[in-house]
Amino acid sequence: MTLPRWDDPALKAGTMIKGALWLVAEVGEGGIFTKEQVRQAFPGVSQADRRIRDLRDYGWVIHTNTDDASLGPGEQRLVKVGIPVWDSNARREAAITTISAKQRQATLAADNYQCANCGIAGGEPYPESPHQTAVLSVTKRRVARPDGTDTEQPLTLCKLCRAGTERLDHADLGQLLADIRNLDQVDQDRIRRWMRRGRRGATPLDRAWTAYRRMPAEAKEEIARDLGIA
Ligand SMILES: [Zn+2]
Repeated sequence: MTLPRWDDPALKAGTMIKGALWLVAEVGEGGIFTKEQVRQAFPGVSQADRRIRDLRDYGWVIHTNTDDASLGPGEQRLVKVGIPVWDSNARREAAITTISAKQRQATLAADNYQCANCGIAGGEPYPESPHQTAVLSVTKRRVARPDGTDTEQPLTLCKLCRAGTERLDHADLGQLLADIRNLDQVDQDRIRRWMRRGRRGATPLDRAWTAYRRMPAEAKEEIARDLGIA
């Protein structure tokens, strides 16, 4: 496939895309470039250097002398070419999965460091497989708007929820039957009801836990003291 020329005056693209094409054509993987070269390639474009660094969010590996001591100040190395951002399809696909470090932190905080799907917190063991603890990751979810447009928004999911179908592939029927048979009688009756209904209902335990979780920290402490936990 022939790449568009980075300096083609007819090329309608932003600085990040032109910068990516420039890197591939003029620097090449393993090559070194300087801020001055970027300025010369994109005269009058403010923050062209920063736009080129944005390529890191698309899997491009660009080292400065803080990553690689053999580089001089102002020198950068194109270690690896990432997603072909000049290809709008590749870019759209990447937008679903690539997220900047800053966005990842903001999303984790906004989601209270919990999986938005199952509510598990990072490092917490899964109730259904206690030997496995949750690893949270931020992924983009396509959200359909009422006006018919759609948007991609970051969302915190645990690894299992993110894998979704993969988890179903590894479903262990025997283990599940054993787990159900090992439940105490109250829970067994409950799960049988849910299975007949095809959906679960909130148990008194769930309701108590949810209400507890919504309590302010001070009230939580009071409850814990009352129950002799803390
Ligand atoms: Zn989850």
